[in-house]
Amino acid sequence: MGIRRCLVLAALGAALVATGAVRAQEVSPPATTTTLPSEVLRIVGEALRSGFPPAAPIDALACERCDYGPVCGPWEWLRTQRKPPERLALRSRLRALP
Ligand code: SF4
Repeated sequence: MGIRRCLVLAALGAALVATGAVRAQEVSPPATTTTLPSEVLRIVGEALRSGFPPAAPIDALACERCDYGPVCGPWEWLRTQRKPPERLALRSRLRALP
């Protein structure tokens, strides 16, 4: 769910509570909701600190759908196949997250 959609739903929910149409109820977020963002930031930070946040498209078609094509240049999929797997470990950890 995009952030804009979340904000719209939050505003709608607040309006419904304010008008008395619904009753507010506290719920605990699932553990992944609270830990996932910090894990993503930790991995991205680690990749940036390592000086190697690699472009590594998931497949040959990914770049065709991506706006960063002019930045990465052509054939990034093929170049990715030659990158040492151990240097792509952070990328793999990021993609393994739920
Ligand atoms: S164009 Fe660059 S950023 Fe986009 S998918 Fe390809 S490698 Fe990744």
